[in-house]
Amino acid sequence: MQVFRYTPAKTVDAAVRAGTAAGGTFIAGGTTLVDLMKLNVLQPSSVVDVNGLPLDRVETLPNGGLRIGALVRNSDLANHEAVKKDYAVLSEALLSGASPQLRNMATTGGNLLQKTRCYYYRDTNYACNKREPGSGCAALDGFNRIHAVLGGSDHCVATHPSDMAVAMMALEATVHTQHAKGVRAIALDEFYLVPGNTPNRENVLMPGELITHVTLPALPSGSRSVYLKLRDRQQYEFALASSAVVINVSGGSIQHARVAFGGVGTRPWRSREAEKALEGQQAGTEVFHRAADAVMADAKPLKYNAFKIELARRALVRTLEQTTQAA
Ligand code: SF4
Repeated sequence: MQVFRYTPAKTVDAAVRAGTAAGGTFIAGGTTLVDLMKLNVLQPSSVVDVNGLPLDRVETLPNGGLRIGALVRNSDLANHEAVKKDYAVLSEALLSGASPQLRNMATTGGNLLQKTRCYYYRDTNYACNKREPGSGCAALDGFNRIHAVLGGSDHCVATHPSDMAVAMMALEATVHTQHAKGVRAIALDEFYLVPGNTPNRENVLMPGELITHVTLPALPSGSRSVYLKLRDRQQYEFALASSAVVINVSGGSIQHARVAFGGVGTRPWRSREAEKALEGQQAGTEVFHRAADAVMADAKPLKYNAFKIELARRALVRTLEQTTQAA
């Protein structure tokens, strides 16, 4: 019989030490991990409880940015005054996710590490390279309506489920971690991996590496931001396509644009192509459509999800119209 080890950690150093043990994984809100353990999708031999760590604060940085502890609950972050005022896209993304009860439990660090909602990943009766490397991918020839049109491979086409991470991508967040050899800061744009031939590896974290906090830079003065999530129902549902936009317009000209998508990519999908199509241009419908074309130029639809391409295009155009109205 396998022995299961549970370790409540009181300090970050102790958590990292315990987490570095073979098979160790961290637990905070448990809103992903516990479900997947019950389904036998994840079977860690050792769980390190990080809920006792002092990582639950949101602080304004001297340069105007924000430092968000990894244990800040999603509901607290969404309703934090500085977030609502200066990073509306983040508050909106958080409030569009899950349910109030789940948002009260789910943490910032855990949200970044959410697992895909691919049905085949969560059902051990099906082949899944992400769950069991080398076993195949049931989604490729299966019912792939919710799967990715950007960033997929012959080994996996699962989307990343987080709304929060999409907003943070548009906000150019940085993820801060601690591991056995020290600390590091990772730009969120470099944090997630596309599946390639190792879909079981979803991000650049090393075993035992703990997310301690996330920082957001101050936005250019006058920036506006919005998150739009399109889904099968209005509550408690994952995105079929979502768009996060952070934009700054002066005299009708787009000075600064950051664009990210959810629901369509194998990772929270920042589109530098769309940003390039927008910056320096006069805000207007034609330019918005050009940006949408730019991001979807490389889209590869599967049998059941081609509709996502048009859905994401429209989501982007709508968010750009919303953020540039009367700017
Ligand atoms: Fe598994 Fe990815 Fe295929 Fe889904 S899409 S079955 S997560 S390998």
